[in-house]
Parts: sequence; structure tokens; C-alpha cells
Amino acid sequence: MSLKISSALISVYYKDGLEPLVRLLHEHNVRLYSTGGTQAFIEQLGIPVTAVEDLTGYPSIFGGRVKTLHPAVMGGILYRRELPEDLAQAERHRIPPIDLAVVDLYPFEETVASGASDEDIIEKIDIGGISLIRAAAKNHNDVLIVSSRNQYANVVQLLTEKNGATDLSDRRFYAKEAFAVTSHYDTAIQAYFAKDDQESTQKAPSAADINDFKNLPANHLRYGENPHQQATFYGDLDAMFDKLHGKELSYNNLVDVDACVGLIDEFAASEGSTFAIIKHTNACGIATAATAQDAYLRALSCDPVSAFGGVIITNTTVDRATAEELNKLFMEILIAPDFAPEALELLKSKKNRILLKRKSVALPTVMFKTILNGVLEQDKDNQTETADDFKVVSQKAPTADELQALEFALKVCKHTKSNTIVLSNKNQLLASGVGQTSRVDALRQAIEKASSFGFDLHGAVMASDAFFPFPDCVEIAGQAGITAVVQPGGSVRDQDSIDYCNAHGLAMVTTGVRHFKH
Ligand code: 5GP
Repeated sequence: MSLKISSALISVYYKDGLEPLVRLLHEHNVRLYSTGGTQAFIEQLGIPVTAVEDLTGYPSIFGGRVKTLHPAVMGGILYRRELPEDLAQAERHRIPPIDLAVVDLYPFEETVASGASDEDIIEKIDIGGISLIRAAAKNHNDVLIVSSRNQYANVVQLLTEKNGATDLSDRRFYAKEAFAVTSHYDTAIQAYFAKDDQESTQKAPSAADINDFKNLPANHLRYGENPHQQATFYGDLDAMFDKLHGKELSYNNLVDVDACVGLIDEFAASEGSTFAIIKHTNACGIATAATAQDAYLRALSCDPVSAFGGVIITNTTVDRATAEELNKLFMEILIAPDFAPEALELLKSKKNRILLKRKSVALPTVMFKTILNGVLEQDKDNQTETADDFKVVSQKAPTADELQALEFALKVCKHTKSNTIVLSNKNQLLASGVGQTSRVDALRQAIEKASSFGFDLHGAVMASDAFFPFPDCVEIAGQAGITAVVQPGGSVRDQDSIDYCNAHGLAMVTTGVRHFKH
């Protein structure tokens, strides 16, 4: 239905660009109401305007925190013009109609970006403006909402063409725009508060940035997972890495680099040097040792066959001795917090080898995946259990070495595709079974792998991403010489596995936390 605008409430933060709209409304004899700063702006144009305080009978209070939050304002926007009861109530309470709301919100995001204090940022959370927008958008049947200064020009054009009136389809369009404005605004506020949870003070992509991921820098990749698939990475790689050498990163490289980063961040450099070798997002080798060279050689020895063409990451500087060993392996990428100059020189000898120096940047805490006709969003699995979280459920408690080994195995397990079983000692992966359709298959794969590379599993430990529905896994593990097990627990048949451990002298701890990874 075409509706002529008879009255408007204008409350905008930035006054730039508002003049043509105000003049047009005035030409159409629209009665204008306005808040403090906006009122002053309209008055200096020589156009009559009523202070919102005159409408409400209330002053602006608490430093402007409460200006338009009043039944006379909200009622004037929200009452249903076609309902006799609403009309009667509006009349009884002397609430005049407001047919148009023009709002430009406090600049919350700009204030955050300016590095302002928390106090200033909180003050820039618009309350009344958001309420005006939501109210007017809700009652778009009767009211037009202009929810951002970006819309002024289009609205001027619309009202000029339609002689100061709008159709329902126009009002519905601007209602949709309005809810986009309010949801974006609230997402930015939520992202600001979410930063409290992040340890790093560095700027990381917030949930809001990721929601608007197509606004992130677009990096067109040569192709996707396979050559016939086109692909783009949206994100700022330069913020994360200094690329010191090598060819362009491919889609699969990026996926592996992401897996590398997630895994290595479980291991503090203060505990020693850790090297991880990743193939198709799973670790085929990982070890911690006193020196970088040792850590690398032990990581490589886990599975030197799979290591060929892998992506490697370390949490300590690559020195010359380690670089000499690394140089013997064909690898796609090496990532390190730093490289000794001689190491870098040597590693650059292979033209295509990608060398990335990692910068300290906080990462998003959420992840996305398209499925069916939509998108899945979830928090990243950022939880890691340590010995303090372990509940000993067997008669035998793990030794100190076993506890350390269980922690190591669990960290690797968390970053390995389900179903997975990880076998390790206290500082080296011995073998894992990855991405199997049963945990028994995963364990058998791991045992066979370990023995094929000459590892003795006596005294090794086992981590499982999820609980054991049957005692078969601990039976197979016990026969292979495994002495301690960590698993989430929670199966109705947990006791069967525990009974086996008790009967055969194995230690078992539960964490209560599952770590599926698909
Ligand atoms: P003015 O410059 O006109 O004094 O204020 C305009 C700004 O106030 C706009 O950004 C508008 O969104 C905001 N605003 C309007 N009513 C209220 C209110 O009741 N509380 C708060 N906090 N902001 C309001």
C-alpha cells in the first residue's frame, strides 16, 4: 500500500549527507522530530524541527544513554495503523505517529578500530538507535526505516519519484536492510567482547570478519584440491607468514599448513624443540627433543616413507645442523619461527621448496564448512587435556613417564582424522591409524606401521579420539605391549575395557572429552 509520510524522527550520528533528505521531507510538509545534535543540525538549515524531549516530556538523560527510549517514540513507530484498538490507545496516550525513522548508529566499529579505551568503546554501543531501527523495521507495514547514512541518496531518489510516499515493497526492502545493519552491528559488538577470551592481543580475524569472509583479501589459487577445481583463499597470508622462498602455495599446501599450525601450537618451545611432519593433514611424524636436529630426526624416523613430500613445522629456530638433515628430504613446505642465516641459505638451494617464517598472530576461534544448502559454523576444538584432567579408572595408575606419554599421544590424537588411535612414547609418535571406519582398524594399522619401522611397542601408550564401545581395542593393545591408555570414556561398556586393563596390568585414564576430527 502506498503511504504518504507525514512525520519523521531523525537521529543520526554523522550528519554529512543528511541535508538533501531533510530538505525534501520539509518540502513534503513532513513534521520532523529529532535528538540533540541532529536537531541542532536541522535547525541551522533553517528548517523547523521538534525536539524529541517535547514529544516525550522527558529530557535526554544519563549522558545521552536514554534519549528516544520512551513509549511516545516507540509507540509512535510501533502502533498498527489499521487496528482500531491501537489507534484508540495512541489517541488516549497522545502518541503521534512516526512514519519514518532515519537513524545512523554510533560508530562502534570505527571506535574499536581507532584504538579507543574500553570505556569509550562501550559508550559507543548504540541502544536507542538500534531500538528505533528494529521497531521501525518491524512495523514496516506502516513505517519506513532508513538505517544508515549510506541509504540517504537512494531514499531521496525514491521519495522524489514517489512524491513523498512509499509502497509496502519499498518499506519491506528497507526493513530487510535494517536488520542487516543491526545484525552486523551486534556481531561486531560480540566480536569485541569475544576478544576477552583470546590470549593474544594481536589483531585476529574476528567472527564478524570471518562471517564477512568475502571481504577478506582474495588469493586466487592455481586450482583447488584437484586441478579441475577452481579455488580462492580469503585471508591475509602475509599477516601470518613471511614467505622467504619457494613457489606459490597451493590449496592442498594451505590445508596442510593449517593442520601444521594447529598441531605445533600444542607444544611449547620451552619444553624443547618439536618437529612435526604432516601428510594430508595428519602427522606421519612428530617428536620433541633437546635439540632441533634430534627432534627432526626422530620425527622423520616415525615414518620416513610418508615424510616424502610432506609439510614440516617446528616451534624453534632451524639451525645449520638441522637444515643439513632437512635438505636431504624432498618436502613441500618448511615452517619455523625463524631460520639461522646459514640454514636459510642452504634450504633455499631447492627452487620450489617453500620456506615460511611464522609470525605471532592470533587465529580465528571459529570454523566453517559448507554442507547441503548451508554452512556449518562451530568453535574450533581449542581444548587440550593434561595429566591434571586425567581420571585414573584402572587399578594401576600410570607412571610419571606414562603420564607424559599419554599427554603427548593425546595432543597428536586431537589433530588426527577420526577414527584414530595414536601410539607414542613420552616424546615421539610411534605410529597412528588415521581416518579409519573403525577404531580396531585404526589400532591394527598403527601396530603394523610401528613394527614396520622397527618400533618396539612394549611400554608405549595409546590415545583414542573417542571411547571404546567394546574391549577389543585394549585387548589388541595389551597384546602388543601397550601399558597405558587415555580415552574420553563414557561408553556403556567402559567397564569391559577397564576390566581387561585390570586383569593385564594396564593403566587407563579417561578425560571426559571427545576429540572427533572429520
Ligand atoms: P544526536 O547527535 O542527534 O544527539 O544523537 C544521534 C545518535 O543517537 C544516533 O546515532 C542514534 O542512533 C543515537 N540514539 C538515539 N536515541 C538514543 C538513545 O535513546 N540512547 C542511545 N544510547 N543512543 C540513541
